[in-house]
Amino acid sequence: MINLEKIKKDFPVLNQKVNGKEYVYLDNGATTQKPIQVIDAVADFYKNTNSNIHRGVHHLSNLSTKIYEDARAKVQKFINAEKESEIIFTKGTTDSINLVAFSFGEKYVSQGDEIIVSAMEHHSNLVPWQMLCERKKARLRILPFDKKGELELDKLADLINKKTKLIAVTHVSNSLGTVNPVKEIIKTAHEKNVPVLIDGAQSIQHQKIDVQDLDCDFFVFSGHKIYAETGIGVLYGKEKFLNEMPPYQGGGDMVDHVTLKKTTFLDAPFKFEAGTVNYVGAYSLGLAIDYVNAVGIENIAKHEQDLLQYATEKLLQIEGLTIYGNAKHKTATISFLLKNIHHYDTGMILDKMGIAVRTGSHCTQTVMDFFEISGTVRASFAFYNTFADVDRLAEGILKVKQMFE
Ligand code: PMP
Repeated sequence: MINLEKIKKDFPVLNQKVNGKEYVYLDNGATTQKPIQVIDAVADFYKNTNSNIHRGVHHLSNLSTKIYEDARAKVQKFINAEKESEIIFTKGTTDSINLVAFSFGEKYVSQGDEIIVSAMEHHSNLVPWQMLCERKKARLRILPFDKKGELELDKLADLINKKTKLIAVTHVSNSLGTVNPVKEIIKTAHEKNVPVLIDGAQSIQHQKIDVQDLDCDFFVFSGHKIYAETGIGVLYGKEKFLNEMPPYQGGGDMVDHVTLKKTTFLDAPFKFEAGTVNYVGAYSLGLAIDYVNAVGIENIAKHEQDLLQYATEKLLQIEGLTIYGNAKHKTATISFLLKNIHHYDTGMILDKMGIAVRTGSHCTQTVMDFFEISGTVRASFAFYNTFADVDRLAEGILKVKQMFE
């Protein structure tokens, strides 16, 4: 069970008034708020410990290095990766995907090859593959989705052929909330020896992730969407690929031996972590994982599903409100529009009532094109949200409607 009263106190940002009203934060899909345990520990780190990692023989450098590598071990355990060396710290989901698109692309993709993505990808999991295909004269193939917001899985097997080098698909759609059957996708792909990258930016914070059980070849996510700092992310990759893939960036800390003629590189994960990495961000991610573990990811999932059900029923009672994304399996994300009212207007008026939602295309213009709309209003929930937050949202939407009538 979730102790909401205690939890809400842990998140200072939530305990304020905005526009004179108790703040209701429903923009968790964009970024999550940070618990005081993370904020304070990071401040203490700068007060007492800060020193660059991997380079020094001195006390604080050793301590920083240990803290950084401990964070790697926490991530490994959290997603059940087989080895610590399969966890690479990056700047975030976008950075992780670009790393794979470049490095995997250099090693495995040639002219005429094919990559498959779905039509519901965030631009972060579409544009890097378009860029790779342009660079290599390869072809990007698209797995469509239907009106409910569910992938048309029956079309997948036909899309895969001998030229297919990788499938990159989101675990959860950030604009529709759909939870995709990634385990099934991975199984189908592996039957034809095609590796799969899972964009976990919108799943890691909502459900238990077990990369060995999924059997995905790559899994990527951002720290800031799971209660850690911005500027830190993770790329999980199976060792067999990481060993073969060339470095993405060159620089300090990723080299074995350097001469003016030639350089040899360290093994993964270090060969993919050039320069001074965001070791404080990694520390914060480890702390955020501790926090999530203490609450329990199963408890989080249960509470968020209860919120989703309550909010969906409540919002559907509002006449003229359409929900985009009605898949059977969803996270607590509701994209909607009010008849004849622009999404920006709805969002701006809700803000005046102290309710934060996101408006626009949510970096998924292809999804908006499919529904022939320019954008939606998106309410995305986290485990610190309450049923009272849902009530405030519903009341707010009714007021928006009244203002336009
Ligand atoms: N993929 C999905 C599904 C997302 O929701 C997001 C963030 N909205 C990203 C990728 C990109 O994440 P970041 O901006 O943290 O790199």
